[in-house]
Amino acid sequence: MSDLQSPVKWTAWASLSATFFLMCVVRAWWTMFVLFGLALVLVLIFGRNRYCSSVCPLGAIQDATGDNAAVRRRFAAARWLKYLLVPVFWGVTITTTFTFIDTPAQLWVWMLRIMISMFFLAMVTQMYLGRRFFCVHLCPLRHPVLEPVRRTRRLLKGRIHHG
Ligand code: SF4
Repeated sequence: MSDLQSPVKWTAWASLSATFFLMCVVRAWWTMFVLFGLALVLVLIFGRNRYCSSVCPLGAIQDATGDNAAVRRRFAAARWLKYLLVPVFWGVTITTTFTFIDTPAQLWVWMLRIMISMFFLAMVTQMYLGRRFFCVHLCPLRHPVLEPVRRTRRLLKGRIHHG
């Protein structure tokens, strides 16, 4: 793919820059929650994963580095991996938020650790298991939150049209 045809949309670059600014310059521990809220709003408004294709910073990083990705591997256990990661991610995120809510500096360190862990997981899985493997099989936002919201919205819309 030529440099002129970057797979990453400008909106994703903008959100990546905003995320970096909020997290690393402002040191706002709640940066990840702002992204999650934005994702939810976009899915509710547009009814499909507009956030994933055009806004998510982690999706953008994976697309930008996708040339080094392995050919996507299919293996039976892949679809079960999210049942491991999703509870661990939300368990750690919610526990640390409530534990350190009165010490924002410490909470920021924990949020940074969580975000960096997800970043490395996405990079390593893409490198060895295929393009956007993290999005397809692991993402703790997509599987338990965005997909159900998207499906429910589509179902309701279908009922309104046919009812
Ligand atoms: S699946 Fe998750 S990591 Fe991938 S683009 Fe969507 S929200 Fe981002």
